[in-house]
Amino acid sequence: METDSSSSLIINPNTLNSKPTVIVIMGATGSGKSRLAIDLASQLQLQLPIEIINADSMQVYQGLDVLTNKVPLHDQKGVPHHLLGTISPEVEFTAKDFRDYAVPLINDITSRNHLPVIVGGTNYYIQALVSRFLLDESLGDTDDGCFDETKGDKEPHMQLMLDQENFSYSYESLKAIDPVAANRIHPNDHRKISQYLRLYTSCGGLPSKYLQEKTMENWGDGDNLRYNCCFICVDASLPVIDTYVDQRVDQMVNSGLLQEVYDIFNPDAVYTRGLRQAIGVREFEDFLKVYNCQELTITSIEKLKENMDTISCSSCENPLKQLLEDAIDKVKLNTRRLVRRQKRRLNRLQTLFGWNIHYVDATECLSCFTEESWTENVVKPSIQIIQSHFEKDTKCGFDARNVSNGVKLMERDLWTQHICKACGNKVLRGAYEWEQHKQGRSHRKRVCRLRKSGVSGLDG
Ligand SMILES: [Zn+2]
Repeated sequence: METDSSSSLIINPNTLNSKPTVIVIMGATGSGKSRLAIDLASQLQLQLPIEIINADSMQVYQGLDVLTNKVPLHDQKGVPHHLLGTISPEVEFTAKDFRDYAVPLINDITSRNHLPVIVGGTNYYIQALVSRFLLDESLGDTDDGCFDETKGDKEPHMQLMLDQENFSYSYESLKAIDPVAANRIHPNDHRKISQYLRLYTSCGGLPSKYLQEKTMENWGDGDNLRYNCCFICVDASLPVIDTYVDQRVDQMVNSGLLQEVYDIFNPDAVYTRGLRQAIGVREFEDFLKVYNCQELTITSIEKLKENMDTISCSSCENPLKQLLEDAIDKVKLNTRRLVRRQKRRLNRLQTLFGWNIHYVDATECLSCFTEESWTENVVKPSIQIIQSHFEKDTKCGFDARNVSNGVKLMERDLWTQHICKACGNKVLRGAYEWEQHKQGRSHRKRVCRLRKSGVSGLDG
């Protein structure tokens, strides 16, 4: 593609803002994010070499290259890719792990005056990376971020005062002083009760009021994003993505998806950790169990493809054929569900978190891919978005106008208890914790399991 040389920018993105600039390419699975990132590397006239950091929770693992749709080396066009197929498939790679790997990577990339481009559909990875709030339910207690734990040490006179008063750090006294705050915590959470009461003694105001203001500050402030982010979302209409996803699954099956899954197939494996959680692994379990028994004498991976063709062409009475078709249908269905989840979360990142996400529409490209339509509808608009981001040096990809509704919602919701029925009536305090909980793996698994057993009316 020819790019108008007058629009070419020669800038060092790291001098514009005290924070490093990162481009974040998001979007549902199958929308073409990876391809866009690679095309940007050759077509963006910033005089800055691009390096890509993968933010797809399944592509980080070694193995299942076809199933997880990793960009093959020859399609990477020499653009460096990080965190793509580098993690052992047996370990659980959490959002916190992702952040801990990606932050030093970004430091390194920007120190070489290259531009980091984060690409991936795992929104909680991206959130953990760019937001100061870490979305990982195992860490819990995120609102503690507004407490300075060392405060007591820094201000010995306060400590003394507390001691002199021989303050009883009881739930009852907190309830008497600040029922709103008390309502928010568990009666046995002594650490928090003590924190709230200390806060009351040191600040004089109600802890709930103070924390509410503090939380609003954190939420409503774009400066709390770790980077100067330019968010681009590759979007497409749902029916078009659905059709595309179906085609892609069939293609994957033809390109050897079964062989890959067969390789890691192990009837005793844990399917809730590491790479085996990928959509398209578990779905083939029933098929592979039966296949394994029947083909025990002639089984070999080389033979599988041949056998697969035989099974696909066999008559409907062949139980293996039925199992295979069911499995493929399940992969399609679960991928479509994932697409919907991803879209919902992206929407929330904008409305609730105030991320200034720029959408580019790949609908036309997905329904009939032509190089021209891709360039016109996706690549060129993205280049414009990035260039105007650099020109305006927009404040960290955060737009206060976006949150106006979200803020209202949070003011109302901040101190509301949510009870998660799926997780044994676990109490979540405030919209943030609730959002976070709903995105957590264990919650999603429970909801999924309960739905399968016919329980309705669950949040997720
Ligand atoms: Zn739950």
